[in-house]
Amino acid sequence: MSDPDCLFCKIVAGEIPGTVVREDDRTIAFMDINPATRGHALVIPRTHVPDLWTVSAEDLQACAVAAQDLATRARDRLGAVGVNLLNSSGEAAWQTVFHFHVHVIPRYADDPLRLPWIPHSGDADEIAAAGAALQG
Ligand code: 5GP
Ligand code: ZN
Repeated sequence: MSDPDCLFCKIVAGEIPGTVVREDDRTIAFMDINPATRGHALVIPRTHVPDLWTVSAEDLQACAVAAQDLATRARDRLGAVGVNLLNSSGEAAWQTVFHFHVHVIPRYADDPLRLPWIPHSGDADEIAAAGAALQG
C-alpha cells in the first residue's frame, strides 16, 4: 500500500507538506513544486505503485477522472485554454519519482512551455509497421 522511502507516499501520509488540491477515496492531487505552467498539478493513487505497468485499472481510472476534473477547474478557474496530461514511466521516459502520477499541465495561449524533445520526421515504413503492430 505504502513505501516508506517514497516521497509521494509521505505526502499521502501527511509526513511532508503538499499543496493538496483534490482528494477522493483512491486518489490525491497536489501542486507540483516545479510547475511547468501555472496550475501544474500531480494526480496520484493513494496506493503505492511505481508506474503505468503496475497501477491497477481501478486506480488508473480514478486518476484519469481526477485529472479531467482538475483540467476543468484549470479551464474554469485559471483561464486555461488547453491542458496536457503526461505520465512518465521509466527513467528512459524522464520519470524521476517512482510513484505513479499524472501531470495535469494547464496550457495558456502563447505560454512558453515546450516539451523536451526535438521532433524529427520518421521513416514512413517504420511508422507504418509500428502502427500495424499497435492495431487490433
Ligand atoms: P516525473 O519527473 O517523475 O514525471 O515527475 C515528478 C514531479 O514531481 C516533478 O515534476 C517534480 O517537480 C515533482 N516533485 C518532486 N519533488 C516534489 C515534492 O517534494 N513535492 C511536490 N509537490 N512535487 C515534487
Ligand atoms: Zn509511493
